Amino acid sequence: MKPARFDYHRARDVQGALRLLSDLGEDAKIIAGGQSLVAMMNFRLARPAHLVDVGALDALRYVRRDDEGLHIGALTTHLEVESRGLDADFAVLSEAMRWVGHYPIRTRGTVGGSIAHADATAEWCLLAVLLDAVIVVESVRGRRSIDAGSFFFGFYSTELAFDEMIVEVVFPHPAPHAAITEFAERQGDFAIVAAAVSLDLRGDEVVGGRVALGGVGATPVRSPEAEQVLAAGGTFDDCAEAAADALELEDDGAYTADYRRTLVRTLVARACKDALVSQGVSS
Ligand SMILES: Cc1cc2nc3c(=O)[nH]c(=O)nc-3n(C[C@H](O)[C@H](O)[C@H](O)COP(=O)(O)OP(=O)(O)OC[C@H]3O[C@@H](n4cnc5c(N)ncnc54)[C@H](O)[C@@H]3O)c2cc1C
Repeated sequence: MKPARFDYHRARDVQGALRLLSDLGEDAKIIAGGQSLVAMMNFRLARPAHLVDVGALDALRYVRRDDEGLHIGALTTHLEVESRGLDADFAVLSEAMRWVGHYPIRTRGTVGGSIAHADATAEWCLLAVLLDAVIVVESVRGRRSIDAGSFFFGFYSTELAFDEMIVEVVFPHPAPHAAITEFAERQGDFAIVAAAVSLDLRGDEVVGGRVALGGVGATPVRSPEAEQVLAAGGTFDDCAEAAADALELEDDGAYTADYRRTLVRTLVARACKDALVSQGVSS
């Protein structure tokens, strides 16, 4: 399949990209790695009249750490994060990348593109919600920072205005005891359900934590019920049970609610155990 006609514009720098987005209006779309957008265009699920190619904006390809946390430039690819092997505080981000599609997809797909595309089971969206990431966006009107918790609001829907571009994602909190796990029918497919956990430890004792789920609704969600179990010193199995019980799920064309609930129960328990051993703490 081929996409509908479009005009192609190559941005040379961030300001140029923002001007193009502003001038071209709602019929324009950014293309970064193209790993989601091109498929959408080929299936005519997206028909932008203009593509603004930001692939050459190397200034937005970086991973760096300072007092505010870990900053990842929007054009950084999944593979760059994976091969960088981030240190213990953010190792979960590198480790999560093996779940993203296949190697060729990871060489082209970008962190900003994933967050903007907002697939309900995308690993970057799940990690952003789990770790309270901040999405930094720019337009000709200025710059603003949006908490991941309020950035995603429906299937493939976000807070982004048509003229805004994600320039950076910031992970403010180190997560040395964190893990992500998921289930898909074939390796490299998007997950049916994904679970991510970040534990708070005092010594070897779990004193709390965060639990986030993908594939259980239109956006990734935290599970306050599961987090309460962790804070109260409950077992990982109780935590997983609480996450599964609290969900309101419906059968869809592909999977039943019971199937997804069973996956949640299994994956949350597994993610908790993986998070505990992630930095050498024995379970
Ligand atoms: C076979 C296959 C399997 C895949 N499996 C997975 C998977 O398991 N997990 C997963 O997470 N992803 C998966 N992907 C998608 C992949 O991760 C994409 O790289 C990602 O979703 C989009 O990144 P991109 O840079 O390719 O964005 P593009 O495809 O270029 O753009 C996607 C959308 O984001 C917008 N956009 C891009 N960059 C920005 C920006 N900086 N600011 C604002 N808007 C922007 C575009 O306008 C477009 O609407 C898969 C893709 C394929 C083809």
